[in-house]
Amino acid sequence: MTLCTSDSADGFRSGRIAAIEAGGTKVVCAYGRGPDEVWARVRIPTTTPDEVMPALVDFFRSAFAAHGEPDAFGVVTFGPVDLRDPASGSYGSIMKTPKPGWEGVHWLSPLRAAFPGVPMVVDTDVNGAALGEMTWGVGRGISSMVYLTVGTGIGGGLVAEGRPVHGLLHPEMGHMRIPRELADRQAFAGNCPFHGDCLEGLASGPAIERRWGRPAGELPDDHPAWDAVVDAMAWACVNLACIVSPQRIVIGGGVFQRESLFPALRNLVRQRLAGYIDVPEIVDHIDRYIVPPDLGQDAGLFGAMALAHRERAARS
Ligand code: ADP
Ligand code: ZN
Repeated sequence: MTLCTSDSADGFRSGRIAAIEAGGTKVVCAYGRGPDEVWARVRIPTTTPDEVMPALVDFFRSAFAAHGEPDAFGVVTFGPVDLRDPASGSYGSIMKTPKPGWEGVHWLSPLRAAFPGVPMVVDTDVNGAALGEMTWGVGRGISSMVYLTVGTGIGGGLVAEGRPVHGLLHPEMGHMRIPRELADRQAFAGNCPFHGDCLEGLASGPAIERRWGRPAGELPDDHPAWDAVVDAMAWACVNLACIVSPQRIVIGGGVFQRESLFPALRNLVRQRLAGYIDVPEIVDHIDRYIVPPDLGQDAGLFGAMALAHRERAARS
């Protein structure tokens, strides 16, 4: 398997790739080779599986009729998703989820039934986003990177030494525990139904809204909400830097569309690492270490394409 460097983007000039990014509000499908070559694209609202599955099969059927048969499918999805064994029947199915109607839904079976014989690969939306950024975006040329998305929930993807990391199931970085001052704990217990004040329970859009009584997007830049978000996210970045040693941390999602959060976050991460990870990337150039994505909302979708290109290369 090739490393995730710009070389692999160069190697992705051939191959017809069908890509799906499944999110909580929309499922985006595309057919093409990469960000510069998309032949067809559609956005399907994430209503029920009974509506979504036939709609995406119809989209690909007409895209393939117009542009030729596909070489591989890449699917990235909200989780938790079963990635444990590509040979098992449950590979690519949604596990326990509060999303009504989606538990146990299998992304690949309708695709396999409609397009038999086409190689298919599945990963999390955030591993996809990490891979997309490493292939075509802000992570070009490096081999280990974390991608955090801070939106309705918080998810984290990890590509380490060129490979998306799954481990036991897949990482759940949004649920890491964050150290907190007593006064802050007493003021807000957090919003995660499982863990209270985990990272997602403190810094996701709904957590901010619950704590301050207004949608995150409506709070002014000088609101104290942002100190709490930066505090929690800085601990998360410190923990990630210490545990997985990524060469870059990319932070996307609706909350971090607020770019004013980045300078404060970088300063606090550098201060808390306290010179211990004594490399220029952190000590001198943290502005290039913790960065927004290049591909914006499309990182996951193009990550699905990159994943499928890799699958195709691995099989040939
Ligand atoms: P999702 O996680 O559902 O894919 P997004 O990544 O777009 O969606 O994140 C949506 C969240 O981002 C919402 O909770 C919203 O309040 C928050 N948000 C949107 N714009 C801003 C903003 N400018 N500043 C802070 N939070 C924002
Ligand atoms: Zn949690």
